[in-house]
Amino acid sequence: MAAVAVLRISGADSGRILAALAGAVPPPRRASLRRLRDARGETLDRALVLWLPGPGSFTGEDGAELHLHGGRAVLDGVSAALVALGARPAEPGEFSRRAFLNGRIDLTEAEGVADLVAAETAAQRRQALAQMEGGLAARLTGWADRLRLLLAACEARIDFPEEAMPEEAEDAAHAEMRVLGAEMQAALAEGARAERLRDGLVFTVAGAPNVGKSSLVNALAGAEIAIVSAMPGTTRDVLETRLDLGGIPVALIDTAGLRETDDPIEAEGVRRARARAASADLVLAVGCPGIAAPAHPDALVIANKIDLGGTVPAGALGVSARTGQGMAELRAALAEAARRLTAAGNPAPLTRARHRAALAEATARLEAAASTDLAELAAEDLRLALRALGRITGMVGVEDLLDTIFRAFCIGK
Ligand code: GDP
Repeated sequence: MAAVAVLRISGADSGRILAALAGAVPPPRRASLRRLRDARGETLDRALVLWLPGPGSFTGEDGAELHLHGGRAVLDGVSAALVALGARPAEPGEFSRRAFLNGRIDLTEAEGVADLVAAETAAQRRQALAQMEGGLAARLTGWADRLRLLLAACEARIDFPEEAMPEEAEDAAHAEMRVLGAEMQAALAEGARAERLRDGLVFTVAGAPNVGKSSLVNALAGAEIAIVSAMPGTTRDVLETRLDLGGIPVALIDTAGLRETDDPIEAEGVRRARARAASADLVLAVGCPGIAAPAHPDALVIANKIDLGGTVPAGALGVSARTGQGMAELRAALAEAARRLTAAGNPAPLTRARHRAALAEATARLEAAASTDLAELAAEDLRLALRALGRITGMVGVEDLLDTIFRAFCIGK
């Protein structure tokens, strides 16, 4: 139960419903204290009420906010009164969906709202806020505008073939296509790094039994999460620890000794550990004096138990989970890896697989346009490139996508 519960209503009937509930429609966009009554005149709450007339509201429609006392009975009573007056509960993401359909925000901005609500760490919050505030939309609109100029030039060549276009104009168009294509390629080359920040990274810890993997995970998490035991193979299942590394969420997975075994439960643990480790963003390969770290391409190699003496192999990071020696350096190295893998801080990256797929298509179409001398073909390719970009912002052909996108929102957003 929260101290304050905010009920939002949106739609053409908002004014009528608000007047019936609060006695009258208060002045727009100002908090007013009102007594809310049901149809029989019983007071349900004394609440702050905001009248938010369209088209300047979030959804673009007339709307209102009721800041209620957060009790269950208040919320239930006011909800029932609203329904009796003709309102219905919103579907997940319906406010954002209406804002999109009314042209208040584009699809990437709506996705930014959902990501902001889901953000767990500071870097996720920054990325979501930038997208919600139109960072990605602006980048895409810029590209679309330039494609439209190229298309216009192409169409001029089709419509007026007899007025021979100066050679320079055609060269300039081709140069612009190459520059634009390179910019779009560069955005694609960032790959899934922004998606990784959205979804969180997976790091696994690999190494022979007893090198101190669970001790290391515990030391990193600063809490006793994995069960530490002097007996090999006691970390039975894959254990997952959530870390916040410089604002980036990381699931740290301690693999179960990674050795063959006849115990079916342990064998299942090993199987899962291998599957997760195979798709991990980074592997922490752990060894200790006398036991080499497992060989993994691109692994961060850690030599544990340096308190016992012995030499740290070249390229490895010497630490002691027991004394804490080297742990600050290890944390820093992990945070740096997380930053490198996610490109946190990039102003307007593509945060979803659907963005990348559409941009890849647009880029391929632009390349096709650049490689033909036939104006008709080039124009068609440019049109298809524009359509592909338009699918990202929701300008074209996304009806089938809307349910998938907005269903993932929470109620009230
Ligand atoms: P795992 O099987 O790789 O997960 O290893 P554990 O974390 O269970 O540790 C195995 C044993 O090594 C335990 O007895 C730990 O107390 C010990 N150990 C772990 N880290 C260190 C360390 O840095 N120094 C020393 N001396 N012992 C350690």
